[in-house]
Amino acid sequence: MSENVERITSWLKTFAQTRVNFRLQNDRRCIQPHVILELGRQGIFAIQIEKQYGGLGLSHYESCKVIEQLGGIDLTIASMVGQNNMGIRPIVNFGSQQLRDEFLPVLATGQMLTSFAMTEPQAGSHIQGITSTIKKTAENKYLLNAQKMWIGMGSWCGVTCVIAKHSGEQQIPNSMTACIVRNGTPGFSVGEEQLSIGMRGSVQNHMLFRDVVVPDSDIVGKVEEGYIIANDIMQFTRLGVAAMSLGAMKRCLVYTIRYASRRKINTGLLIDNTATKMKINACRAKISAVESLVYTTCELLQQSIIIPEIHMVAKITGTEFLGDVVDDALQLLGGRGYSENNLLAYFFVDARALRIFEGPSETLLYYCGQLMKLRSRRTKVFAHLKATDLKSYLEELDSVLQSSSLGSDENFACSARGKMTCWLVLLATLRLSNITRVLPEYSLTEAWILNRIETQMQQLRLEAYNNLLREVDTQEILNSFANVDIEQVIPDEECDMDRLLRRKI
Ligand SMILES: Cc1cc2nc3c(=O)[nH]c(=O)nc-3n(C[C@H](O)[C@H](O)[C@H](O)COP(=O)(O)OP(=O)(O)OC[C@H]3O[C@@H](n4cnc5c(N)ncnc54)[C@H](O)[C@@H]3O)c2cc1C
Repeated sequence: MSENVERITSWLKTFAQTRVNFRLQNDRRCIQPHVILELGRQGIFAIQIEKQYGGLGLSHYESCKVIEQLGGIDLTIASMVGQNNMGIRPIVNFGSQQLRDEFLPVLATGQMLTSFAMTEPQAGSHIQGITSTIKKTAENKYLLNAQKMWIGMGSWCGVTCVIAKHSGEQQIPNSMTACIVRNGTPGFSVGEEQLSIGMRGSVQNHMLFRDVVVPDSDIVGKVEEGYIIANDIMQFTRLGVAAMSLGAMKRCLVYTIRYASRRKINTGLLIDNTATKMKINACRAKISAVESLVYTTCELLQQSIIIPEIHMVAKITGTEFLGDVVDDALQLLGGRGYSENNLLAYFFVDARALRIFEGPSETLLYYCGQLMKLRSRRTKVFAHLKATDLKSYLEELDSVLQSSSLGSDENFACSARGKMTCWLVLLATLRLSNITRVLPEYSLTEAWILNRIETQMQQLRLEAYNNLLREVDTQEILNSFANVDIEQVIPDEECDMDRLLRRKI
């Protein structure tokens, strides 16, 4: 690890221990101002901004080390840094000289925060379904009309990067364009905050853009290449989310080990109980697998090799495994896991969001499986991971699917292939990591992954599995459970200013 990264991670640890009150952050529903100011001063918002603009200019490997540390401290703060970076990255990688000069110095220090606005009420995981539009109306001018929701940092940011469908004359069918919009631009308003069960210290808002005039100079990258920009952001963010999940998993396991080593239960020490050992070993394997995957992906990025399937696998497995590990930790700590004082509860609710944003697991499994249907993609993925032998598992999966009715269901087949790809990519990256650095937990992790592969194959061979594919009888369920179909109509709290005090009645 570079000296710079060691300095930052050790500063973060001390800062978290002495200056951040996580309970207050949660109760007050706000990250404390000094936290944002200090993170800005230390350059945490600028990990990938070049040094000439006041950034740290860290490599992918170094950036992931910092993000991992943030994840081990607090997922709300880590996600806030990540969401801010989603607005910074398009300016760093695609912004004109003018945009870079204007924004990067203030964004690097955290004097200004930013956001990335993609999700809309009618389209979240299905990005192509967005209906906001950007249209050329005059020489050097565009008109943006968009309604966005769930935009992290929405009401805190000074500038936002918006993705909209390109309307009017198009070179590329169904294309998108990215632009930046400053706070205070006529026609742009930040809407209600969307309160969430976790990430309570941070904000997500609705955003409305009504006939917003966007000058040519505020278009990010090339017109109609918004999807490329969105993809670039998503690739890096997916890896970042995996890195923060890794840090959080490690923290959960530290608490679990400490408690289990000290706590006596009816069979003796909790840690000596076989059920506990099995859980802890599975957690260890999950951490080791994700760690190998995250840092192997960084090495590939360093060689400018971007394999979307690998980034999807990182996001899926990082967040799903974190869900398992934090749940196991909470359970093994008994009542202490459920206590607010011990902070695990915050990891528990915050971790839940990670499986949803930046592509929910199911969506990514589907896309990953769809790509891996192509032999050319399989060859490419496994060639880069130096694991061409693993392709045979996908061939076996294909033949199991073909021999049952499951294979004819395209959704199911893609998801199953996506899931198998997850295990295989984890296996390949684990093996690669073990070459450069002997991993003490290698055999445990390899055996665990092989067991997952075998389990998935066996499950697909079970005829009973077919039952789950039948049509859902929605009416039967709604009728049978009508007694618990409760829809609240209680009045909400009043928060508008009294009309008698307003300028106009
Ligand atoms: C805390 C938080 C912060 C966020 N921050 C941002 C932000 O900064 N910027 C931004 O643009 N957005 C942001 N989002 C939005 C987020 O990216 C979306 O919520 C997410 O993409 C899912 O979209 P959706 O909520 O519309 O769910 P939907 O698209 O309605 O999905 C519903 C369900 O369908 C499932 N599904 C979808 N496709 C498939 C498939 N092929 N097979 C099986 N199941 C499938 C999904 O897994 C999900 O379970 C944020 C969300 C949250 C919760």
